[in-house]
Amino acid sequence: MSAGRCANCKDFTECPVCGSTITGFSHVGVRGIPISRSSIWHQAVPCGHRVRIQTEKTKQGGVAGIAVYNGGPLWKDGYQWFNIFWGTSWNGQSLVARIDKAARDIETDRSYSGQLSQYNVGVGSVAGYSVMAEDPGNSVSESDIAGAISNWIVRGSIPDLQGSGAYNIFLPPATIATLGGDQSCSTFCDYHDSANGNAGPFFTCEPFPCSSGCNQCTQEQFDTLTQGLSEEMTELKTDMNPGTGWVIGNEEICDYCDQRFVCNRISTGEYVNAWYSNQTGSCWKP
Ligand SMILES: [Zn+2]
Ligand SMILES: [Zn+2]
Repeated sequence: MSAGRCANCKDFTECPVCGSTITGFSHVGVRGIPISRSSIWHQAVPCGHRVRIQTEKTKQGGVAGIAVYNGGPLWKDGYQWFNIFWGTSWNGQSLVARIDKAARDIETDRSYSGQLSQYNVGVGSVAGYSVMAEDPGNSVSESDIAGAISNWIVRGSIPDLQGSGAYNIFLPPATIATLGGDQSCSTFCDYHDSANGNAGPFFTCEPFPCSSGCNQCTQEQFDTLTQGLSEEMTELKTDMNPGTGWVIGNEEICDYCDQRFVCNRISTGEYVNAWYSNQTGSCWKP
């Protein structure tokens, strides 16, 4: 969806999986299973194979300044989130209001989100949410999401945020997300991307909480969801079009802290994924 080249893939002329000639890669910010696989996933264009990108390891603790900015769009003050609960099974669920509140809490936490100002990233707000009346089917790809966002905007079911915000897409229990040949709760937890490069619309995709592999802290579905949501919101803001914003090698700033995960909560109680601070060289703590 965000096809192109980054510093880590600029030299590939053919797909290492199938050998076919490629024109570039689609870049997606993914929380992997296990979460140590969290990184910017590369899918070769046009064959679609996922290619593992190896970069220099800079995993020593306490090293400041290793995140670099590649010039792409960043989240600004006043940008808005809109939460989309896709499908009729969300109707009447108390989880909807809890998740909506969690997104608000994450965005406005002065420590967790406020300190992203060191990356020239602002603080936004949550504009609201909608429960979508149609069901998404058994699986949802990135192009399915892009098409649905476009339809919902045309119909007036959701606000048109253009480039000045992003959508959190929450899938119901019976629906999996796919990324090429990969499936949620099998090889990844959740991801963020843009439907059209630097222009957006930008979105996170949150499959219904996986029963294993995505929660390092508790057995609760809600905690699984906030760990993933906090990572995707933070990485969307600091790297709106994956690979063009703030990155550490082939990782985004939460991916780095997934390597040695520590359970942390923000002041309102939600479990969140820490992010790497360029100022201190360490991962966020309350
Ligand atoms: Zn790349
Ligand atoms: Zn291939």
